[in-house]
Amino acid sequence: MTSKNLEILQQIILEASRSSRRDSIARRRSKDLTQVHASWTTDSKIGDTVGRATSIVFTTLGCSYARGDAGGCTMCSYLLDGTEKAPTDEQLIQQFQSVLNKQASAEGPLSVKLYTSGSFLDEGEVSKGARGAILNMISQDARILEVVIESRPEYVTDAIMAELRQTLGARRIEIGIGLESSNDSVRGICINKGFNLEDFKIAITIARDHNIGVRAYVLLKPPFLTERGAYQDTIRTIQQCSELGVTTVSLNPVNVQRNTLVETLWGQGEYRPAWLWTLVQVLREGRAALSKDIDLVCDPVAGGKSRGVHNCGKCDKKIVSRISTFSLTQDSSKLEDLDCECKSQWMHILEHEETSLLVHSDRRLR
Ligand code: SF4
Ligand SMILES: [Zn+2]
Repeated sequence: MTSKNLEILQQIILEASRSSRRDSIARRRSKDLTQVHASWTTDSKIGDTVGRATSIVFTTLGCSYARGDAGGCTMCSYLLDGTEKAPTDEQLIQQFQSVLNKQASAEGPLSVKLYTSGSFLDEGEVSKGARGAILNMISQDARILEVVIESRPEYVTDAIMAELRQTLGARRIEIGIGLESSNDSVRGICINKGFNLEDFKIAITIARDHNIGVRAYVLLKPPFLTERGAYQDTIRTIQQCSELGVTTVSLNPVNVQRNTLVETLWGQGEYRPAWLWTLVQVLREGRAALSKDIDLVCDPVAGGKSRGVHNCGKCDKKIVSRISTFSLTQDSSKLEDLDCECKSQWMHILEHEETSLLVHSDRRLR
């Protein structure tokens, strides 16, 4: 495809993303700004041991990128989780305190994952003052050995990384960045991500200078790819993650979220989330491709449901449970001896699904 056609295609996707976002901004409800949007605790691998990880989604205005002209990523509805009014610093601190209170009797080691429906390091969502106070509260809790913070790469600056390291001391710190794909065309066109691989590499270098790791979020099956194309893209991305120096790979199969381009396509029968068989294969091959010190984790949202990664309905539960065990143990043998009559159908699709929707879009341009 010529670069002119790529540009046109990019523009079509951008406009479709904006249009699918429709009234997401207007539909955001006003919320109690002293309460987090969500928090949950699960078993989690923390360094070489298994502990408890608490994920916290702060109530904020939501992702600046999605609120802006770009319209956000093709699969993401996080904007709907935001609030119409920005919380004050005190309210953000209260949000964190209320989650910490629930952990008062929890035994360590603990991991804390700081999320917003966007980027925790974006000062348009969480001010410098609130961020500093929250990091200070963590620094005073000796049970917390790991902190994971989610952000787009443009907010990974030298000054902020220095602040994190200085406040959090020797704790393991990771910045979770949605790389999604190592292929600029897949990330730019299929996902409308709005940054390139070079931006991701720069963020890794800056973080590494402060002994801070990067957790790469890798997407399985963005729209406009066939099952086979998606499988190949994800495997290539995981292999490249190893070369790029990420510290963890978090594999996320696309789930169909409200008011997204993915939902529009899904509603028209033009998109199906990945098969669990594809996910199992990617996890097995991905694990083999990564060095031992890089964890490959996966907690598929809506796994086994029609809006999430799924198979035939009969084998889904068992496979999702094996994936959870694999994430904790990193033991690929947990993904062996799985079988079902739907596997042959999946293999047929992998082999024969014909033309990707990306090519259809290209035809429309002629
Ligand atoms: S995936 Fe991240 S960057 Fe993209 S719209 Fe959602 S929150 Fe924003
Ligand atoms: Zn099955």
